[in-house]
Amino acid sequence: MTKKTVFPGDEVAVAEEYMPAEGTYEYDGKILASLAGDLDLDQEEKVAKVTPKNPLVVLRNGDSVFCRITDVRASMAICEIFAAEGKDRDITGDTSATIHISKLSSDYVQDVGREFRPGDLIRAKVIQTKPSVQLSTQEPHFGVVKASCRKCRAPLSVHGKALKCEPCERVENRKVADDYGDINF
Ligand SMILES: [Zn+2]
Repeated sequence: MTKKTVFPGDEVAVAEEYMPAEGTYEYDGKILASLAGDLDLDQEEKVAKVTPKNPLVVLRNGDSVFCRITDVRASMAICEIFAAEGKDRDITGDTSATIHISKLSSDYVQDVGREFRPGDLIRAKVIQTKPSVQLSTQEPHFGVVKASCRKCRAPLSVHGKALKCEPCERVENRKVADDYGDINF
């Protein structure tokens, strides 16, 4: 087995000799890397795979992580993980994760954009690490821990299940965590 560092799009083998596996794909007779990491050319199994270098591999199901919402789509929210709660593990590199609409709340969610907004900081639970990181915010302790007003960017304060901007006197809906506002980053 040979090991070397490869980057997305790098040609790592030819399709005649190796099968694509985790971290690789076949294109035009070639096996290309789909992510950055260590290349494993398994001579026996004849598979080419790339193991990501980023420390996301240290994440485990059940871990609690803090993330920033980066995008909201019809069926999911996309976020960047920036810390694992209560653990001395650095999380760097590609830390993108998704929260499916069905895993967002224990209540029925019709519109992801009513629960999370880009820029919100949330606490979420890791429910899947491979091939992509999937998170859940269903339980009361998970959800938005810090958010700012869409209009004036002032921090929102929690009032029951809603968030309020004092300067604008606007109320915004969110799936909030039970300790919203108590966390300092
Ligand atoms: Zn405001």
